[in-house]
Amino acid sequence: MECIFCNIKDKKAKAEIIFEDEYILAFLDIQPINYGHTLVIPKKHYDNFLTVPKDELNKITYATQFIAGIVKRSLNADGFNVISNNGSSAGQSVFHFHYHIIPRFNNDFSLRPAVKSYSSGAMKEYGEKIRLLLSKYKDIYNG
Ligand code: AMP
Ligand code: ZN
Repeated sequence: MECIFCNIKDKKAKAEIIFEDEYILAFLDIQPINYGHTLVIPKKHYDNFLTVPKDELNKITYATQFIAGIVKRSLNADGFNVISNNGSSAGQSVFHFHYHIIPRFNNDFSLRPAVKSYSSGAMKEYGEKIRLLLSKYKDIYNG
């Protein structure tokens, strides 16, 4: 399947690359939410956050931390968002895992949607649903 981020990694498609090593590539988002909006991808193709193996996830997450600090300082940003959209419902449009680093400036815009509140007992129910599945899978977690 054709993947634009694989094409960028293979240098078959152009991008404004800012950092690259054996495992990861960072380049500017072509439709930035703020100027300097950067994407960090693993060089190997994984569809989303859930399918990236642990070692590579560590590498890409550490690289994202490093690059986020550089983006913030080089652009004199006041802060930044690190975001990963997973699944079309969450806004993912390129199905090659990536972190967004979005430089932020005081009072630029709000990324916060309207919040919900739990009705009585509902928070516990949600907690229980999640804990139930966690208890089934906890043996595969090795942190
Ligand atoms: P997402 O919607 O979270 O999957 O993010 C995909 C991002 O990739 C979007 O913000 C797009 O603007 C960006 N994008 C798509 N094609 C390119 C490209 N050729 N070069 C740089 N960024 C791209
Ligand atoms: Zn890909």
